[in-house]
Amino acid sequence: MSISAIVLAGGVGSRMGSTTAKQFLPLGEKLVIHHCLEVFFSSPDIQEVIVVCEPHYQPLLQNYPVKFALPGQRRQDSLYQGFLQTSSPWICIHDAARPFISLSMLEQLFKEGKEVGAAVLAIPMRSTVKLCQGPWVEKTLDRQLLWEAQTPQFLSREILQKGFEHVHKHSITVTDDVMLAELIGHPTKLVTGSPSNIKLTTAEDYQLACAWSTS
Ligand code: C5P
Repeated sequence: MSISAIVLAGGVGSRMGSTTAKQFLPLGEKLVIHHCLEVFFSSPDIQEVIVVCEPHYQPLLQNYPVKFALPGQRRQDSLYQGFLQTSSPWICIHDAARPFISLSMLEQLFKEGKEVGAAVLAIPMRSTVKLCQGPWVEKTLDRQLLWEAQTPQFLSREILQKGFEHVHKHSITVTDDVMLAELIGHPTKLVTGSPSNIKLTTAEDYQLACAWSTS
């Protein structure tokens, strides 16, 4: 399979409270972003890796043969910039702030995604989720129907292209990648991810990741 991987690393990580974007902080003997790059470069299916990041971070990736794209204002704008650099018929998108992916996770995602055209790693919701109006609970959602989406996410080039045309035409904001398939009515397969595939968002997440990577 010929796949382009896009690693989104264009965010500033304001919720982390650090001057360095979270994906470029140290984690074990590498940087956070290096962990996912090692996995992508170990996959025989991935032909090229595009990293979307600010130019001043590019030297931190000099040991990896990646292509670069410049970030946009929103996550989806960064994705589009990365997408313009790709050449493969299949696209795998990943948040650089999720360092704990594995090759077996990727392979399962690719296998199931190829059959359908769009797939996302996700885990069943473990908490009870409330729909609210301000500080008031409006209703409790049925946990059996809820999954938490992770990355990587995987789409065919054609579906991604059509999804972008749709959101650009209708000025829609999406919060993950397979929403682009959903919005054009294309089915997306849920592939069971792992609770350890956390996204580093806050300083506490980062401390937890540091503790895991030394244990
Ligand atoms: O902000 P959030 O944690 O949801 O970001 C998810 C990923 O998208 C991060 O790896 C971040 O660097 C990236 N991102 C980006 N461009 C943006 C916003 C976020 O590449 N404009």
